[in-house]
Amino acid sequence: MIIIMKMQATDTETDAVITRVTKEGFKTHVSVGEERTIIGIIGDERLLDRGAISRMKGVDRVVPVLRPYKLASRDFKPENTVITINGHQVGGDKVIVMAGPCSVESLDQMMETAIAVREAGAHLLRGGAFKPRTSPYSFQGMGEEGLKIMAQVREETGLHIVTEVMAPEQVDLVAKYADVLQIGTRNMQNYALLNAVGKTNKPVLLKRGMMSTIEELLMSAEYIMSNGNHQVMLCERGIRTFEKYTRNTLDINAVPVLKELTHLPVVVDPSHATGRWTLVKATSKAAVAAGADGLIIEVHPNPAEAASDGEQSLKPHRFAELMNEIRPIAAAVDRSV
Ligand code: PEP
Ligand code: MN
Repeated sequence: MIIIMKMQATDTETDAVITRVTKEGFKTHVSVGEERTIIGIIGDERLLDRGAISRMKGVDRVVPVLRPYKLASRDFKPENTVITINGHQVGGDKVIVMAGPCSVESLDQMMETAIAVREAGAHLLRGGAFKPRTSPYSFQGMGEEGLKIMAQVREETGLHIVTEVMAPEQVDLVAKYADVLQIGTRNMQNYALLNAVGKTNKPVLLKRGMMSTIEELLMSAEYIMSNGNHQVMLCERGIRTFEKYTRNTLDINAVPVLKELTHLPVVVDPSHATGRWTLVKATSKAAVAAGADGLIIEVHPNPAEAASDGEQSLKPHRFAELMNEIRPIAAAVDRSV
């Protein structure tokens, strides 16, 4: 349920409404917009005396929210959420680019990649220390050692780091080093993990499950937000379809659909969406044109030798080309990079 206050409603009137619904046992989420204030109500709505609330001073109307997610919904909060990471605003005017290897492999590899992507204009550094591999015999990541390498590279390059956390019991450890906690596609519906990252104060990059609907993605965001952490970025990273030529199918529709349904920033991962480096530039441009707030791109100094996802990793000079090619696309949709 949302309570829409009149344009001329006073703070006292708004406070009276909040006090009343809070007394009745509901949680509220207040969104102060440029024109009017909206009070989102969370709880068993059948118990709310809708008529009485509608008659309170300053209330314009009370509207049920039919969608199963609330905090993530644009009905609850019409304005875009902007998440600030190291001074970079995700969800603002700029398209924020996160780049780096799939896996952290060594200090030299991370440092070389970080310097190159920073030079090309990337805003954040990505790298996996805990890797969710389809085969248990594939490289599983460097673990804490990898996190320490990333922290050292941050120290020297100033780039903040995005890295995956795979289990609730790892959250404290990963949060000690990371600036952004990534939830991978395979864990999008790991509710214990979503609850655990929801209790931290770190921004979360929530990747869409490869077989999940957009609504399921939003429900997962709701888990994180309902624990108090509202800094959630949603990431479209390709879904499973019958098409085999590419690793996944980039659901470009998801970008404008999410922009309609939610106020949360939307990031696109063209590397995992295609699985082929030759397709990453074109799909990055499509994502920016469609309104993505950010991109996350795999870059490796020597893709042929990468411990994971070499086939979809760009060499640094190709990443630099990509950055130059997305600038005019961003400008065409009134953004910058
Ligand atoms: C990754 O970012 O390296 C990764 C494993 O992503 P996803 O969970 O989307 O497969
Ligand atoms: Mn990868």
